[in-house]
Amino acid sequence: MAAKHTVVLVPGDGIGPEITGAVLRILAAAGVEIEWERHVAGTESLATLGTPLPDTLLAAIEKHGVALKGPLTTPVASGFPSVNVALRKHFDLYANLRPVKTLPGMATHHGEIDLVIVRENTEDLYSGLEHVVVPGVVESLKIITEKACTRIAEFGFQFAEQNGRQTVSAVHKANIMKLSDGLFLDCCRKVATRHGSVAYNEVIVDNAAMQLVMRPRQFDTLLLENLYGDILSDLCAGLVGGLGLCPGANLGPRCAIFEAVHGSAPDIAGLGVANPTALLLAALLMLRQLEERAAADRIEAALVQVMQEPARRTRDLGGEATTSQFAEAIAAVIEAG
Ligand code: ATP
Repeated sequence: MAAKHTVVLVPGDGIGPEITGAVLRILAAAGVEIEWERHVAGTESLATLGTPLPDTLLAAIEKHGVALKGPLTTPVASGFPSVNVALRKHFDLYANLRPVKTLPGMATHHGEIDLVIVRENTEDLYSGLEHVVVPGVVESLKIITEKACTRIAEFGFQFAEQNGRQTVSAVHKANIMKLSDGLFLDCCRKVATRHGSVAYNEVIVDNAAMQLVMRPRQFDTLLLENLYGDILSDLCAGLVGGLGLCPGANLGPRCAIFEAVHGSAPDIAGLGVANPTALLLAALLMLRQLEERAAADRIEAALVQVMQEPARRTRDLGGEATTSQFAEAIAAVIEAG
């Protein structure tokens, strides 16, 4: 019998295959009927297929509309351009949604945090438009458009409305970048007037960074351009226990790609110690989008139960479990229930 869903799976680089294996084990324990269509990308497909972003992968995502993606390494300062960025552009995945929530039982400096990052995903300094003007001088273009700002602001306010959130905070540097970030703010303000049930305020990005470190619970939904969203996402991950705990969804009109916020973590790749929770939480976002809410709830409850015992956590959270021991512990709770 055919599975209920077909999802494109890109295990990715570095710790990608380890955490992907763990997530598949846990989803299988919950009995979710998913046929996984595996594809390679990045360094692996460059070596085997001669391109970091194969057409077969693009066609598969186009066809099935949903992908779960492990981290893909982007070479620093040279080599091929980011595959993550290319995928977002190709499929117009303009909204990057990153929930940052304290898992029950996790001790953090600030108590319970529950905020959401809504990051514009297609433009800003990620347009990849850089050139050498003359030797020793490089120009990197920050592209900000009314269309993209309005679209992400509309997404952010709608998300807030539909998820019972109270306040959207636009994060900017319009005091310095008066035209580009000024346009972003203009768009946010206009969209805010159409969503009167959600409060709206503005925070300068450097102040936002400090406020997040000192009093993060004042924030609810953060609306950001691409670069500020990237940087503050990692900061926010640190507030709830680290990169191993934060999922992300890249959403567009035709398809969605779910992934962990973190990168390929080459420093721990192959050691079997990576925390698969971020990718697991991304898979739960995906399951909820696929209307598999009951399975997502069961998996989340099992995750929370295992997390209650510090020794059963992975090393990044001070525990002793390997990636697969952690996954087996969650799978065992699901199977026992
Ligand atoms: P990128 O540039 O690809 O976003 P990055 O610079 O954010 O990557 P990561 O690969 O995310 O870097 O790793 C940052 C640090 O966090 C590393 O020390 C890494 O080992 C750790 N880390 C990241 N993800 C995990 C995880 N799932 N489990 C444990 N540690 C992790």
